[in-house]
Amino acid sequence: MPFLLTFLPELEALLFGEQDVWFLAEILFRTVVMYLVLVVGLRLMGKRGVRQLTIFELVVIIGLGSAAGDPMFYKEVGLLSAITVFVTIISVYRITTYFITKSKKVEQLVEGKTICLIEDGRFCVESFDKEDLAQDEFFSELRVKGISHIGQVHRAYLEVSGEVSVFPFSDEEMRPGLPILPHEFQNQLLNITESGIYACVHCGKTEQLKALTRTNCPICKENKWVKAVSRKRVQ
Ligand SMILES: [Zn+2]
Repeated sequence: MPFLLTFLPELEALLFGEQDVWFLAEILFRTVVMYLVLVVGLRLMGKRGVRQLTIFELVVIIGLGSAAGDPMFYKEVGLLSAITVFVTIISVYRITTYFITKSKKVEQLVEGKTICLIEDGRFCVESFDKEDLAQDEFFSELRVKGISHIGQVHRAYLEVSGEVSVFPFSDEEMRPGLPILPHEFQNQLLNITESGIYACVHCGKTEQLKALTRTNCPICKENKWVKAVSRKRVQ
C-alpha cells in the first residue's frame, strides 16, 4: 500500500508534533508536578473555592492557569520557569492583599465597590448608569429571588463579587412599583390611555397620571411609563 505509506509521516507529525513518543511519559511527569504546584499555589492564596472571585483574584487565577499549562507539554518550557511565575504571582497577590486590608482606598481601587441598584422601590439612577448593567440579567436575578416589581424592594446592591443582593420590603411597607415580569414590562406607553398609577421605565419613580396626557418623569426626565403593579412578593 505505497499510497498509504506516503501519509504516515504526516500522521506521525499530527500525533506527536516535533516530539517523540518518550516525551509523552515526560508530559505525564510534568503534568503531575504542575498539578501539585497549582493546588499548593491556590491554598497559599487562601481561597477555599472559586464561587465568589473578585476581578483581581480572577486575574491571578488566569495568570496561574496559563503558567501551569505550558510546561506540561512544551518541551522548551522548563518546570522551574513556571514555578518562578507561580511564586511571583502568589507573592504579589499576598503583598496586595496586605495593603488592601490596611487601606480602604486601595481596596476600592482593586476590588471595586458595592453599588446601590435599588433604593426604596426606585433604581439608584444617580449611582449607576442602567445602560451599563445588563438589564435583562438584572431583572432575571430579581425574578429568581421572587421579586415581580421593584416596589417590593427596599434595597438592592451589586456586590464586589458580581452578585446582586436584595433586601425586600415587608408586605405592609411594599408600594406600587415598576413590574419586571416581561409581559407587563413590555407594555410601555408614551401617551397615557387610562388614569392610574404608573412607573417610569428608566428610574422606577411612580406617579398618579391622568388619561390622555403625556408626562415626563420628575426625577430622570424620561417619558416612557408602565402601569405600576402592587402585587405582594412570592415567598
Ligand atoms: Zn424616571
